[in-house]
Amino acid sequence: AKKQGRNNYQWFDPKLDESTSRTLKIRHALKAGIEHKQFELHYQPQFDLANNEIIGCEALVRWNHPTMGMISPVEFISIAEDTGQIVTLGRWILRRACKDFAELRNRMLSDATVSVNISAIQLLRQEFVGDVETALKESKLPARCLVLEMTESVLVESPQLVSRKLSELEDLGVHVALDDFGTGYSSLSYLKDLAVDWVKIDRSFIQELTHDSQNAAITERIISMAHHLKLQVLAEGVETSAQRDYLRRANCDAMQGFLMAKPMPKPALIEFINDYQAD
Ligand code: C2E
Ligand code: CA
Ligand code: CA
Ligand code: CA
Repeated sequence: AKKQGRNNYQWFDPKLDESTSRTLKIRHALKAGIEHKQFELHYQPQFDLANNEIIGCEALVRWNHPTMGMISPVEFISIAEDTGQIVTLGRWILRRACKDFAELRNRMLSDATVSVNISAIQLLRQEFVGDVETALKESKLPARCLVLEMTESVLVESPQLVSRKLSELEDLGVHVALDDFGTGYSSLSYLKDLAVDWVKIDRSFIQELTHDSQNAAITERIISMAHHLKLQVLAEGVETSAQRDYLRRANCDAMQGFLMAKPMPKPALIEFINDYQAD
């Protein structure tokens, strides 16, 4: 009973277990966390599979709580979504990522990008596109350097509204990536009418790539269909050189994963970029 249902059924669960009290603790701590800026962004580099160049990085939020220590976004993002606090937190993440990357990008290729995860709740808010515009203006980051990552569930839930939002974002010049692709309702067919630029194949497919031929077949299909639709494909969670070689042969465009680099604070990323040789 970890999931926070709409009707809060866990209140009536006789086993008010450890995970529930932790959820409550996090829920309470979020407000102060946001007020006192206990969050920071780490950045994981992304690579072109053909030439190994760094093509950008993904911003991943971290919460360093004064007493609970590091709390994973896997734990607190869904809670922040439940309470609506993701709106404030998400706005901060977007602004910080744009600001950081405006400084970072002159160390990279001129069209390198920063990818920012966006919750459905944020995207569906009326002021979202305006928030993106503000973040770009404030940071002077060119719009083409920003990629917004969202999961496919949002497309299924409110297709018309989302379709309109995506065209507005396209008009701004920012790019959109569909995150965790393959895990949900995955139909590439409805992507053809949407202003989406990238598909990110979920780590669960990449993990099995070199062991499970069915998984490999699905991955290859996703790549070739995406290319037909003029979408680029990034594989996430690449951990072995066998996986990387497979993806390269399958014509996947880009990759991200522990094989190349873990998410890291901005100063470490600068060091990584300085030491990195694509060859
Ligand atoms: P995601 O967007 O799918 O992010 C990828 C996750 O996979 C990250 O976990 C990253 O650290 C991890 N990862 C990357 N490469 C590898 C690899 O080779 N092996 C393994 N085992 N893991 C790898 P992280 O940072 O813990 O984030 C987890 C999830 O939390 C994200 O999944 C995303 O859904 C959410 N999240 C993180 N930051 C944000 C944010 O700023 N905003 C929102 N709305 N959600 C966020
Ligand atoms: Ca992501
Ligand atoms: Ca993902
Ligand atoms: Ca994922």
